Amino acid sequence: MSTGRGVWADVIDDDWNDWRWQQRHRIDGLEMLESVIDVTASEREAIRECKAWFRMAITPYYALLMDPTDPDCPIRRQAVPHLDECLTYPGMSDDPLAEEAHSPVDGVVHRYPDRVLLYVSHNCPVYCRHCTRKRKVGDPSSTPAGQRLDAAIRYIEQNDKIHDVLISGGDPLTLSNQVLGRLLERLGRIPHLDLIRIGTRNPVTLPQRIDEELCAVLRTSRSLYVHTHFNHPKECTPEAGRALDMLADAGCVLGNQMVLLKGVNTEPAVVVELNRWLLRHRCRPYYILHCDAAPGVAHFRTTLDDGRRVIKALRGHVSGLAVPQYVVDLSGGGGKVPVVPDYLIAEGPQEVVFRNYQGRVHGLTQPQ
Ligand SMILES: *Cc1c(COP(=O)(O)O)cnc(C)c1O
Ligand code: SF4
Repeated sequence: MSTGRGVWADVIDDDWNDWRWQQRHRIDGLEMLESVIDVTASEREAIRECKAWFRMAITPYYALLMDPTDPDCPIRRQAVPHLDECLTYPGMSDDPLAEEAHSPVDGVVHRYPDRVLLYVSHNCPVYCRHCTRKRKVGDPSSTPAGQRLDAAIRYIEQNDKIHDVLISGGDPLTLSNQVLGRLLERLGRIPHLDLIRIGTRNPVTLPQRIDEELCAVLRTSRSLYVHTHFNHPKECTPEAGRALDMLADAGCVLGNQMVLLKGVNTEPAVVVELNRWLLRHRCRPYYILHCDAAPGVAHFRTTLDDGRRVIKALRGHVSGLAVPQYVVDLSGGGGKVPVVPDYLIAEGPQEVVFRNYQGRVHGLTQPQ
């Protein structure tokens, strides 16, 4: 028992540390939320208004990271509905990345020549308010199961140009270990695959899910990469660190995909702290993703300058391993393109002029 657990003070440790308990006790209604934080008028109305199109669910573990009195808390912004989610804006789209148009079979998005996304789950422990896939997440009809999943895997088996499969959703770790194990085994037998990736936010929102049983399943898979989604140092708890350590010990190569969100992580110092913590747990910052033009994210959107400022604060100042690529996923399915601060300030046929991380100017002579 722990008094630091507020409304859950009487919950025994065995329950609290059990992901099934956490999953069963998620906050999914106003009344429960009110027992944990001081809900603002805007949040209250948003839960009533927006619920219909994107549900709320928050694990007790993640809920405890929220500041009960500060509505601007970065965890709260990510987890609690806000009236601004009802705002529309130019360019907004239900399917901003045109994933449906690039879907050759149910559950597969094949945009790049050599790799595919495979949707296996529509569930997540916490529904992130900034989610790009609101049209699918939480909707049981959106993920293929049984025969349809079989057809999706057959598409990958029969297309030897595919070298990389990203298991996605929703969150693939909401699958049972048994189902996940079978999937990894089947993908592992496909000779033309170089690697398998799992995209999951469980280490952030439900780190208890990363246990010995799961790691035993992951350990059997070949070339497994796990992409997590940490956005703020408040998420960097001992539990989350332990989850990353266990995944790395199980042989997974860890990467983090942070989404750049106004009011959460546009301050460079926040990202420096986050990325240093990730490296301590063998998780390499891989991408900073510019916020996609999904519904309900008007209040999260940033300019490219916000992202470039973050990269500038990292490059040269901290380990190169802590510097991810800042990318925009082009609307309409154009794919991801990097956005880089201007280090190159002039380029002639012979001489190139750079500005380095300290703002000093340096030249480079090119071969003729
Ligand atoms: C992001 C994405 C990938 C993976 O891209 P990488 O740059 O290789 O990490 C693959 N397919 C789709 C459709 C994507 O959106
Ligand atoms: S975990 Fe990922 S898929 Fe699930 S709600 Fe969050 S952003 Fe969306």
